[in-house]
Amino acid sequence: MSNVKTNSRLSNRVQQIKPSGIRRFFDLASKMDNIISLGVGEPDFVTPWNIREASISSLERGFTAYSANAGIIELRREISSYMNKRFSVQYDPESEVLVTVGASEAIDIGMRAILNEGDEVIIVEPSFVSYVPLVQMAGGVPVSVGTNNQDNFKVSAKQIEAAITDRTKALMLCFPNNPTGATMSREDMLEIALLAERHDLLVFSDEIYAELSYDEKHVSFASLPNMKDRTILISGFSKSFAMTGWRLGFVLAPEDLLSAMLKLHQYSLMCAPTMAQYGALEALKSGMDDIERMKQSYKQRRNYVVKSFKEIGLSCHTPGGAFYAFPSIESTGLTSEQFAEKLLLEERVAVVPGHVFGAGGEGHIRCSYATSMDNLEQSVERIERLLKKLT
Ligand code: PMP
Repeated sequence: MSNVKTNSRLSNRVQQIKPSGIRRFFDLASKMDNIISLGVGEPDFVTPWNIREASISSLERGFTAYSANAGIIELRREISSYMNKRFSVQYDPESEVLVTVGASEAIDIGMRAILNEGDEVIIVEPSFVSYVPLVQMAGGVPVSVGTNNQDNFKVSAKQIEAAITDRTKALMLCFPNNPTGATMSREDMLEIALLAERHDLLVFSDEIYAELSYDEKHVSFASLPNMKDRTILISGFSKSFAMTGWRLGFVLAPEDLLSAMLKLHQYSLMCAPTMAQYGALEALKSGMDDIERMKQSYKQRRNYVVKSFKEIGLSCHTPGGAFYAFPSIESTGLTSEQFAEKLLLEERVAVVPGHVFGAGGEGHIRCSYATSMDNLEQSVERIERLLKKLT
C-alpha cells in the first residue's frame, strides 16, 4: 500500500487493486479510427442459432423467475454428463456442480470460500488478469511463478515447489492458457498433482479453453489420480460456445467446497440468469458440432498467424490451445508497453502488452487471432512494417 494514495471512504483492499493494464489500450483504441483489434479475448462468432432460439423459447414460455440457487437441475445434470464424456471427470449434479455468472464468478467465490487473511495462492504466470485482484479481494496474497518462451510457457513442479511456504493454501493453473496459449500434457500435470498431494494444496484449474485444444486432447487436472478431492475445476460457456455476453460458467468441486461457494453465490447473486441457463442447456445437448466447427476455424488461423510471425522475424512458440499468439518482441529492444503503443499509434493495430499478465509476460505481446483472416493478414503486414522501421 506504500505508494498508493489512500482514500478513507474506500476499503484498503479495493485501493490495493491496480487498474487493469488492458483497459488503457482499449480506451486509447476506442478514440481512434480504422483500428484492427487483436486485443479482445473473445470469440468472433455469434452464439449458434439453436442456442439463442432455446433461450428465446424459454422467455416465450414464461420462464422468467429465479432458478434454483445452484442452477436448473437439468443443466447441472447435462454439465455433469458432458464433463464426464469429454474429460473423464465425475461430479454429482446435486451436490458438486454450481452454475455461475461466468467463470469469473467461479474464481471469485472459490477464492473467497477458501482463503483466510494472509493465505498465499501461487499463480502460474503469465495469467488471466483477474486472478491477482480476486485473490487480494479475498484477503489472500498472490505469489507469482513465471514461465517463459524457452519452456513453451509450461510450468514444472520444481518451479512451483520453490514458491511454496507454510502459508501456501492453493495453486492457480490455467491450461490451455490465456495469454500464452500454452498447454500441458498428462505427464507434466502428473508431477504437479504429486506436488499438490505432498504439500496438501488446493488447486484451482481454470479449464475454460479446454475445448480449444488443437494438437493434443485436453487433460483435466481433476481427472488425475486423487486430484478430484483437492481441485476446484472452473469452466464455462463463453469461449467454446461463443457465449461471452451470456455470463454463464460453472464450477465443479467436492461437496464441502462447493457448498461454501454456493453460500456466497446465493447471497451475492441468487442464481445465474435463467434464460441464459436454458440456452446453455441446448448448447450442451446439441452444440458439439458447433464447437468442432469453430475450433477448426481457430486452428487454421493459429497456423497462419504463427507461421507469418515467424516469417517476419518474430519468435513465437506454437500455442496448443485458446485463441492467442504470444510472440516475443524482445529483439526490437522496446518494452512490451512501448511496442504495443507504437503499433497502435503508428500502424493502428491493437494488441495487449505482455507485462500486464505478470511474470514472464514482459518482452511479448498478446495477439488474439479470433478475428477475420483479412484482419490477420493486414495485421501481419502492419507489424512487419513497424519491425522494419525499428531495425
Ligand atoms: N478464465 C480465463 C482464463 C479467461 O480468459 C476468461 C475470459 N477472458 C475467464 C476466465 C472469464 O470467463 P467468463 O466470461 O466465463 O467469466
